[in-house]
Amino acid sequence: MIYKTPIFYLGDFNNNKLFVKRDDLLPFSFGGNKARKGKLFFDEITKGDYDCVITSGSFSSNLVRIVANYCNKYGLACYVVIGEAYKRSYNSVLAKELGAEFIACDEAKVKETIDNLIIEKKKQGKKPYFIPVGGHGNIGTQAYVDAFSEIREFEQENGIFFDYIFLASGTGSTHAGLVCGKIINNAKNNIVGISIGRINPRGTDIIVGSVKEYLSEKHPNLTVNEDAVVFVDDYIAGGYNEANESILNTIKDTFNKYGMYLDPTYTGKAFWGMKEFIKTKNLNEKNILFIHTGGCPVFFDIVKGW
Ligand SMILES: *Cc1c(COP(=O)(O)O)cnc(C)c1O
Repeated sequence: MIYKTPIFYLGDFNNNKLFVKRDDLLPFSFGGNKARKGKLFFDEITKGDYDCVITSGSFSSNLVRIVANYCNKYGLACYVVIGEAYKRSYNSVLAKELGAEFIACDEAKVKETIDNLIIEKKKQGKKPYFIPVGGHGNIGTQAYVDAFSEIREFEQENGIFFDYIFLASGTGSTHAGLVCGKIINNAKNNIVGISIGRINPRGTDIIVGSVKEYLSEKHPNLTVNEDAVVFVDDYIAGGYNEANESILNTIKDTFNKYGMYLDPTYTGKAFWGMKEFIKTKNLNEKNILFIHTGGCPVFFDIVKGW
């Protein structure tokens, strides 16, 4: 498996051992979970007969950067439907520089704008491939079924068991993939998704839906016990793309102490949420794994303001 990432021991936290799986070190366009998903999407796209890719995301989206980078690499046109006014960020500037064309519309009109764009491109004789926001769907889920296998391998090779696996849970396929991996392997790890914006019950329902969709296609004999999806919405701090003082301090502390960046939208929020969760639940003497899902350019967006 070429896309294997390392797991490092970070240090102790409240008498627990904290480890991190560095998916941010994946070797394409600053890595991250969208690099892991993007690899699988573009394996499919380059096998098919497509000449352009349509996707969607916010101005700070890591997926948009990755998709733009792959499109450039493979000579495909790249269109990004964005449900807000275009704003400069390292990710949006990089995506533009890579040739992506941004199409801004009302937040409520994103789906309609995408649908119309697909129709328009087909009318022009183009062959568009659509990548859903966040890389959602079975391909995105597969990326984290694979990551779960890597975690299992690490556990077996090192004689360790991760009692808890934490991650930043957004559009859901990272979380869903890990849960599917757990079900497929009949593993016992507690997987805890820290919401970066959505609230329950919708947040949980979307993950459960993605798990079911994946299992019904790949493992129709397996089912999801709804308890397997732990989606915690206590640490959204005002919602998507919002960060509080504690999150910003966590980012600085983590960089100072471990030399590891986090970003305010995803990993910083999740890392702070994880620490609060550990304290609130009085976790003790556990092996805890945090999945570092990337977002390097988003880290620099805040560093610029320091
Ligand atoms: C997109 C993203 C997430 C959330 O992943 P989902 O699969 O959408 O839930 C987490 N961290 C980073 C850095 C991301 O870019």
